[in-house]
Amino acid sequence: MPKIMIIEDDKAVREELALLLANEGYEPVAVTDFHRIIPQVKEASPDLILLDLGLPGQDGLSLCAELRQDNDIPVIFVTSRNSTSDELTALCMGGDDYICKPYNIPLLLARIKVVLRRSSPKAATEYTEINGLRLNPAKGCATANRLTTELTRNEIQILAHLMAHAGEIVPRADLIEALWNNKIYIDDNTLSVNMTRLRGKLEALGLPDYIRTRRGIGYQICQGGTAE
Ligand code: CA
Repeated sequence: MPKIMIIEDDKAVREELALLLANEGYEPVAVTDFHRIIPQVKEASPDLILLDLGLPGQDGLSLCAELRQDNDIPVIFVTSRNSTSDELTALCMGGDDYICKPYNIPLLLARIKVVLRRSSPKAATEYTEINGLRLNPAKGCATANRLTTELTRNEIQILAHLMAHAGEIVPRADLIEALWNNKIYIDDNTLSVNMTRLRGKLEALGLPDYIRTRRGIGYQICQGGTAE
């Protein structure tokens, strides 16, 4: 059963969440000591983290950024702040999704399911290679020019979708759908943020023009092209 770590300083909310998750068949683990949270995360090695933004000491955003330095456990931000800029910041910090308080319970459970499904490892040896870039979704990384970069789940989804349609122009809407698996959560800005970050990582691998923008249409990886 998937282990879900709850990082939430409001005791009542925390306990309610733990109960809810246990009732749904998950194994909840709640953090109660908010100093040195990262070691506790690594010790528990959860399948997913529900992370409150407002925490005593280190806030959720910087915690996630620190975690992402060497860890790819999926994170759903839980926030009472409700602005687009917070959402974008959260995604920039490597969060996989976010949900606002007060919880809509069915929505929270649905998002947990989607994020877990997205992160479940497929065959570890499975990879795609096009134009000198090798994407290994199970390992969460891409390799080119003997360099490797770690990718977030969103970045993997974007790259995998573009590679699966190499040579074609992929409309933004198709990518957004591939990202969220659900048209309700469409957000064009979110795609732009993820795309910028992904391109930065590809550039660091020596592939600055790997993903071409077809202005007003979408994105394209040119099969057998000379971009590499
Ligand atoms: Ca809080």
